[in-house]
Amino acid sequence: MARFRINILGCGSATPSLRHLPSCQVVDFRDNLMMIDCGEGAQLSMRKMKLKFSRLNHIFISHLHGDHVLGLPGLLSTMSLHGKTGTVTIHTFREGIELLKPLVDFLCHEPSYELVWHEISPSGGTVLETPSLTVAAFPLYHRVPAVGFLMRETEKPRHIKGDMVEFHQVPVSRMAAIKAGADFVKPDGTVIPNAMLTSDADPCVSYAYCSDTTYNPKIAAAVRGVDLLYHEATYIDADAHKAHERGHATASEAARTALEAGARQLLLGHYSKSYEDESRHLAEARAIFPNTLAANEGMTIDLL
Ligand SMILES: [Zn+2]
Repeated sequence: MARFRINILGCGSATPSLRHLPSCQVVDFRDNLMMIDCGEGAQLSMRKMKLKFSRLNHIFISHLHGDHVLGLPGLLSTMSLHGKTGTVTIHTFREGIELLKPLVDFLCHEPSYELVWHEISPSGGTVLETPSLTVAAFPLYHRVPAVGFLMRETEKPRHIKGDMVEFHQVPVSRMAAIKAGADFVKPDGTVIPNAMLTSDADPCVSYAYCSDTTYNPKIAAAVRGVDLLYHEATYIDADAHKAHERGHATASEAARTALEAGARQLLLGHYSKSYEDESRHLAEARAIFPNTLAANEGMTIDLL
């Protein structure tokens, strides 16, 4: 079972190229699949990467540019043809619901699963909360309203030291509080500090998706301490003027955000079709933030 795996289905930008597909990722969190952006051909890429339609229940849309949403009708139709059951929730802005719902209703009549449209705000906020994971949106700075997504495991309980708990005769009724960090007070008033009864909880892993956006220091603040930051790097430094005109970032600016955020690792993507490869993106980003990778279709990254 994947604990927290990022699958890259598409990491090109809007103008089609033969090297990359438009934006699409699938986050596999304990075998629950969540898609971020849905560029054209998403359903084919899912099949290629052996990602099961039956496990896909959430689709998060960062903004309403075609290269981030045009895969939706095809994906939703294909899943119905495959007899998918359960629920699929699409998280998008109000305009996205107004625009996409009639199209999907027309093209994908009576799907085999329940389709739910959930409105999110361009100013951000909590989008999804499960007992083990929270997905929050935060504003990006693009030509149209856009949000990034931060997925973070919820705080985990501390590990119980079985022998110590037994030795101090901690009753079962106190165990939840002890796991949450409470001290144990014995019937005679003796206080057993929590550190004697437990060890540290597993760290909470987090992932942030930032595409499309220009550089803005508020992004680093929104994703502070993130384990893996996917950040658009549409251009290299020599084309910085194009990035700024078009509401995009350079690889150096992505690296600057990763550095300012104290991210553990940076993953570049959303490349313009103007480049033959991503070697310059990587070199420019690594000069600022060494722990940088360049995304590619078919790539998977496990967050541990
Ligand atoms: Zn865009």
